[in-house]
Amino acid sequence: MTIAFEHDAIRAQFPTLAQQLEDQPLCYLDTAATSQKPQSVIDAMNHYYQLDNANVHRAAHQLSARATLNYEKVREQVQGFINSARLDEVIFTHGTTESINMVAYGISQQVNANDIILVDSAAHHANIVPWQQLAKKTGAIIKPIPLNDELSIDHAAFDELLKLSPKLVAFSHVTNALGTVNDVEILVQKAKSAGAITLVDGAQAIAHFDIDVQAIDCDFYVFSGHKMYGPTGVGILYGRFDQLDQLAPMLTGGEMIKTVSFAGTEFGDLPNKLEAGTPAISAVIGLGAAISFINALPKEQVRQHEQSLLTYLQQQLIQLGDIRLYGANKHNCGVVAFNVSSEHHQDVGILLDQQGIAVRCGHHCAMPLMQQLAIKGCCRASIGIYNNKQDIDQFITALRNVKELLL
Ligand code: PMP
Repeated sequence: MTIAFEHDAIRAQFPTLAQQLEDQPLCYLDTAATSQKPQSVIDAMNHYYQLDNANVHRAAHQLSARATLNYEKVREQVQGFINSARLDEVIFTHGTTESINMVAYGISQQVNANDIILVDSAAHHANIVPWQQLAKKTGAIIKPIPLNDELSIDHAAFDELLKLSPKLVAFSHVTNALGTVNDVEILVQKAKSAGAITLVDGAQAIAHFDIDVQAIDCDFYVFSGHKMYGPTGVGILYGRFDQLDQLAPMLTGGEMIKTVSFAGTEFGDLPNKLEAGTPAISAVIGLGAAISFINALPKEQVRQHEQSLLTYLQQQLIQLGDIRLYGANKHNCGVVAFNVSSEHHQDVGILLDQQGIAVRCGHHCAMPLMQQLAIKGCCRASIGIYNNKQDIDQFITALRNVKELLL
């Protein structure tokens, strides 16, 4: 079912947004950090705890059967949502960070000393540090992929690096600090032609774009539930079956085994093999509700709405003056990064907060990118489906006040 695009009705589904902060309507421009949750997600999680609470996959009783059914239905929903070829290519994790760590850990037996790992130099730390740990363990060499003038991956530089026949290439679909969009399909295709394993960090793309992992053709695609209107505590590791099946499990224990004896253990099959222990059941149920929420939206209109808000935001910031924008262009997705003249980003954030505006200020877990921009940090305003023009106007008015106070 798709609903007509009535933006007020969509926004009204997010109870957090109905509050006032500092006698102002809450203006939430921090969706890239975490999105607000619609009532349906909150209700689905409450429903699980009120009526179905039981562990999955284990007991013979009805509650457990119901919990297991609902939990496994979400795996099917995720499969449809990202168009994976097989159900057992969808692994529930606790978030993007864990998903990437699972790959970096699980692949270590396939990585040798001096193997090259290419990493997006604008990546989130979650897509840098696990590869560094892998390199430490194996003697592999990490090479950052340079950026072009628009601060997305530079294709010419990437082509050069691919001549080194890297073992693995990891990059963001959309960067969290700047909202720059990489040409995933082309980058993956190039990396594959060079024989590399590919991992795409989709944490910032999943709420904004239709993701088709078969069309992207990557080996791994990872994201978090909490950035797509779902709860914290759940994420997805998608892996192409043959790659996923080769990963050594980072966590071992219950749920992931076929047989255990003190003589040894035989691991179970995918997906269980990579889902040791009790999962975040309520969060998975909430993720299912978030997918239903997104699927019911008219995708094209949502995309246009978000894109026109972003363009409006960029234009208003330029008009305001004394604003340094980073990597802002019309192709960006969901995010505007800026500083007010040479003022400290933290001061700007605090003064905005005092006017009911929630933005993120700091290095955005992208210190190597900040180093390239020669800044310590910046402010980031980010957009979700619920934002409207009034939010942007409120933000710009507040920023004008900040300017008057600071400059
Ligand atoms: N990658 C990107 C691009 C992100 O934006 C984030 C979250 N800021 C992460 C990885 C890490 O996600 P999580 O904290 O949900 O594990």
